[in-house]
Amino acid sequence: MNAHFPEAILTVDLNAIAGNWRFLSARLKPGCRAAAVVKADGYGLGASQVSRALQQAGCARFFVATLEEAISLRAALPQGEILVMNGPEAISAAEYPRYRLMPVLNSLEQAEAWRQFAARKGGPLAAALQIDSGMSRLGISPAEATELAGQADFAKAVELKLVMSHLACSDRHDHPLNRQQWQIFNQARSLFPAVEASLASSSGIFLGPDFHYDWVRPGAALFGVNPLREAPNPMAQVLRLQAKILQVRDVDEGIAVGYGASHRTSGPARLATVAMGYADGLLRTLSNRGHGQIGDKLVPMVGRVSMDLTVFDVTGMPAAETAPGRMIDLIGSLITVDKLAKEAGTIGYEILTALGPRIHRHYVGSGAA
Ligand SMILES: *Cc1c(COP(=O)(O)O)cnc(C)c1O
Repeated sequence: MNAHFPEAILTVDLNAIAGNWRFLSARLKPGCRAAAVVKADGYGLGASQVSRALQQAGCARFFVATLEEAISLRAALPQGEILVMNGPEAISAAEYPRYRLMPVLNSLEQAEAWRQFAARKGGPLAAALQIDSGMSRLGISPAEATELAGQADFAKAVELKLVMSHLACSDRHDHPLNRQQWQIFNQARSLFPAVEASLASSSGIFLGPDFHYDWVRPGAALFGVNPLREAPNPMAQVLRLQAKILQVRDVDEGIAVGYGASHRTSGPARLATVAMGYADGLLRTLSNRGHGQIGDKLVPMVGRVSMDLTVFDVTGMPAAETAPGRMIDLIGSLITVDKLAKEAGTIGYEILTALGPRIHRHYVGSGAA
């Protein structure tokens, strides 16, 4: 889409993503492997491209949220395991063997639907089982796990490949819920002693080897989001987001900028209007708060972010770098995803997944070492 005349470009460094996967893999306890979570179109970066690069790096297991995401990922990844975290429904169960997908069973209803489907197919069918260890989102309760573990017809029809759970506060090392969830998970998984286990996503990996089990499930950290709340980011940045300057104007003091006239110039100023707005994921909360990068300088956003346009105060910047047609960086060496998120009052995850379809995705590298 708009590939020929892009006004905004997201450059995705696939080698850096692969490098982040290797970096995480190298810190896992022996025997533990890293899968990759590529839901929401690979956190907005392009699930197919990102997954192929991760596969080149050695990743063999991928998690998505929905069945439709899994089916489209299968087209890009003929090999490799794909797990569907939202779980199966009776109405679409047949799509799983058709595309060689594995469901995550999150409730007794999903477990029963999958058991019935597997029994009808006449053979054991693989699945993962999610335990709710204290987040109250998806998964069966520990009591329900006990119930399920005692059901011979379930064990006969369903081949459990993974028991998993998800941590609510893993970006806070000292949060007591981490250990509580760990204990509840340990108890529940002991009901399925021969089955591999997984608890940690990006941040959970940094809680240490106790939290690693057989598989970890990083997503955001692969894409350069800082998995550590209070420490410098150990991950490599993988993105550059650029948008084109459409118009430049020199104005006097006291001139209003944008909807609502929320900014007035405090002196003579040069303003650059840039082709990106909240429809592209440049969140409106960045109004009068965010920055762009030109060369090695930051320039402030002035006025409200509008749907397709944002204005920057480029006073004092070299004219050649601020001419119409030049690009300015919205994510760059001085503006990490986390910095942009902070200025927008959100998290890097939301910044990435909000990046809109008008932005042309440009890929560099392949993921090969
Ligand atoms: C999204 C998700 C992940 C990945 O989380 P990150 O914080 O992006 O690493 C892992 N497991 C589950 C169940 C998820 O929903």
